[in-house]
Amino acid sequence: MSQTLDGFPAAEGIAWGRVRRIPWGAPDVPHEVVPAEAVEDEVARFADARVAARTRLEALKARTEERLGPVEARIFDPQILMLEDVTVVGGTERYIRETRLTAARAFEWRMLELKAQWTRTANPMVLDRLNDLEDLEVRILRQLLGETDPFDWSSHHGDGDVVVVAKNLTPSLIAQFDPSEVAALATDQGTRTSHWAILARSQGIPAVVGLGDVSRQVRDGQEVIVDGRIGRVVLDPDDRDRRVFEERRTRIRQWEEEVEEVARLESVTADGQPVALRANLDLPVEAANARRHGAEGVGLFRTEFLVVGRNAMPGEEEQYEAYRQVAEAFDGDSVCIRLFDLGGDKFPSFLHLPPQQNPFLGWRAVRVLLDEPELFRVQLRAVLRATAHGDVRIMVPLVNDVEEVQSVRSLLEEEEDRLREEGIRFNRGYKLGVMVETPAAALDAAELARHADFFSIGTNDLVQYTLAVDRTNARLARLFNPFHPSVVRQLHSVSRVARAAGIEVSVCGEMAATALGAFLCLGLDITALSVAWPALPELKKVLREVRIEDARQAARKALAAATSNDVLEALAEGIGDTVDLSAYVGRWNLSLRG
Ligand code: PEP
Ligand code: MG
Repeated sequence: MSQTLDGFPAAEGIAWGRVRRIPWGAPDVPHEVVPAEAVEDEVARFADARVAARTRLEALKARTEERLGPVEARIFDPQILMLEDVTVVGGTERYIRETRLTAARAFEWRMLELKAQWTRTANPMVLDRLNDLEDLEVRILRQLLGETDPFDWSSHHGDGDVVVVAKNLTPSLIAQFDPSEVAALATDQGTRTSHWAILARSQGIPAVVGLGDVSRQVRDGQEVIVDGRIGRVVLDPDDRDRRVFEERRTRIRQWEEEVEEVARLESVTADGQPVALRANLDLPVEAANARRHGAEGVGLFRTEFLVVGRNAMPGEEEQYEAYRQVAEAFDGDSVCIRLFDLGGDKFPSFLHLPPQQNPFLGWRAVRVLLDEPELFRVQLRAVLRATAHGDVRIMVPLVNDVEEVQSVRSLLEEEEDRLREEGIRFNRGYKLGVMVETPAAALDAAELARHADFFSIGTNDLVQYTLAVDRTNARLARLFNPFHPSVVRQLHSVSRVARAAGIEVSVCGEMAATALGAFLCLGLDITALSVAWPALPELKKVLREVRIEDARQAARKALAAATSNDVLEALAEGIGDTVDLSAYVGRWNLSLRG
């Protein structure tokens, strides 16, 4: 019998393959003491192991730079820097000298200490660095113990159907994979914003994260389906699963083949309503693919990639280059740069954040930016300079009230003055928008509309904050329901407010990438959607087959619905046969009466 596991979608695409587990864990290290005269030899062996690790990491970095680009390759910097870190190196050498432990054992002890310290922060961004630290630990210990890489991809010649299953992954493992060999990834832990997930996305490798204990449930060679669009993994798929998979894969392949053709098609409903379909980007390198998939601009350019895993804030030039690269790739179409959304599940360690009990309810996004104006001004200058290269818009994350928007605007005005004094070009007519992603912002939208040039509804957070369901908690995945009536009502009222104020409203959360979610948005007169770029062709095809009048009627019913199931049912009925509803049935327990 097949078994379905639901986690979180981390990279689009669907694949059928055979499991290959990665036992990427630290090896057992024997407890050994060396004679006093051998102590300095151990210190030297530790130095040699670091050199070997550095050489390997530099090679992976170079390969990533070649494949993806310089910004993406920086993902290896934290590990390379850790190799020189005094807390790592000095601490290990001290153990070797003071206790005469072997280099391997001393290093293992030091790692245990550091990991314990870091884990106490319970901060996801630091936990991401912990992931880097563990990667380094495995690398150095294996070197010291004379073991080979347990997963030397270069020696593996599969037939492209390998589904890598692991507790968690690391950027350096992803960089080691050959995308023509690896069909998909599935992990117990991790989030969409983990470094490795960002890398997987940019290489088009489907991935599902947060599956609990999938790595313990599977065996090597076991057949498995990974659906990175809906965050589902099916073990030992049966005939029915196979049929569903074949249909979906065939459809996706057709879209892939037709990508260029579909990209050229007008994005308009069957009854003539134009819909702006834009892309969400996590990395600049994705811009080219987003264009190829028909994106009419970028509705959400997340900028945290510049900060994740770094030891210091990126400078103005580096930021400017990244923003300019995307602006130029979309020449003419709007590119909406979201200011740093740090905190929540993404926190750079250099900000020295005190532990927070509830990171998502804590010091996050605009709150951090306004408390750290010096850090923030660098980004504002870089974005302002990028406005000279296209229709670059600026978007503020996690806004709760008008004062926050006013504060950002006055900082922007100060930076504009400085740029003018320095004779540096920027576009004075740029738009400043607000992300509506808290119930406070949704309820106060009328006030905010007086201070914002546009709204972008971030349903990922809006759902989390409305329903009090942590978006990263796999156990609650079924409760994370964007079709909950309370969410539908907020979408409706924000849309109405925006229209009354004459400003654009779009949705940039994941729900917009689902057929029923997009249909709902349309029915609520939200006609600009921004989604992960691989979803664009499918979405455009769906939108071209539906009628806005049907969507409006379905939305009216959805607004009157008492339960999420009623909302889904109203939408399913309205959209008709256009869409395969199986994904909704399992995920949100949709029970279709008709
Ligand atoms: C959202 O919250 O819906 C959103 C698009 O932003 P992020 O997922 O980056 O928080
Ligand atoms: Mg958000």
